[in-house]
Amino acid sequence: MATKTQDTYDVLVVGSGASGGWAAKRLSEAGVKVALVDAGRPLRITDLNEHGSGLELPYRGLSSEVVRKTRPVQKECYACTERNYDWFANDLEEPYTTPKDKPFSWQGRTRMVGGRTNVWGRQSYRFSDLDFKAASYDGYGMDWPLGYADLEKYYDLVEDYVGISGLAEGLEQLPDSRYLPAMALTCAETRPTTRPSRSARKYSARPCSKNGFFRRSRNWRRSKRSGATQFGSSRYRR
Ligand SMILES: Cc1cc2nc3c(=O)[nH]c(=O)nc-3n(C[C@H](O)[C@H](O)[C@H](O)COP(=O)(O)OP(=O)(O)OC[C@H]3O[C@@H](n4cnc5c(N)ncnc54)[C@H](O)[C@@H]3O)c2cc1C
Repeated sequence: MATKTQDTYDVLVVGSGASGGWAAKRLSEAGVKVALVDAGRPLRITDLNEHGSGLELPYRGLSSEVVRKTRPVQKECYACTERNYDWFANDLEEPYTTPKDKPFSWQGRTRMVGGRTNVWGRQSYRFSDLDFKAASYDGYGMDWPLGYADLEKYYDLVEDYVGISGLAEGLEQLPDSRYLPAMALTCAETRPTTRPSRSARKYSARPCSKNGFFRRSRNWRRSKRSGATQFGSSRYRR
């Protein structure tokens, strides 16, 4: 049961997601006495289970119907799974309504300290003036009262703290962040650029070579001798 306290605070921040969490951090660093409240429960170390095997879960991570029973809307979001569905609002206990002609699938309603930072996809992009001043470009809506130049130093501040990995590409529509070194490609991404194994060359119909062109497999050579190709088009005959 919650206990009453006589403490007084300068600021009460409601919600501990990226917005509220950052506001609480900056304000308390500035010496302000902050209370941060959240409708969700605290994050436990056992919640960080996304790298565990699905076999450890009661339904092996395969029963989306179990999740849908209490989170029919939240389940529409790919991130709400058997592993973590209790991080999300129970749609039956916390329903919402929309006008009949304006349905809205309100996914990603987390009830957890840290909010959606617990499930976000880790893609971190800056807005550009194409976003802030969109109305001036396409005539729809209203421009923001501030622009990229006003916010740039704050992007720097957050990114230095959070750690953003990437590659500066100098694109006007996607301003570069303050990057940590780019991450290495994953195994699946590098695989097509490396020479396939002997067995892969034998059994794969179209194994890739280093330069990106399709290698000719043994079968291709065989079929060439018989006058046809595995691709079935004269374009590929050599
Ligand atoms: C699956 C998924 C992937 C995403 N991927 C990306 C991505 O790759 N890149 C990107 O930029 N963005 C991404 N987003 C969006 C991004 O995560 C959110 O925009 C951002 O985290 C929202 O932060 P917030 O603080 O505004 O809100 P939230 O994180 O939703 O925080 C709100 C908090 O308030 C609490 N709360 C709500 N009501 C009350 C109340 N009445 N009283 C007290 N507390 C309350 C909630 O429990 C919650 O903790 C993703 C979102 C989802 C769901």
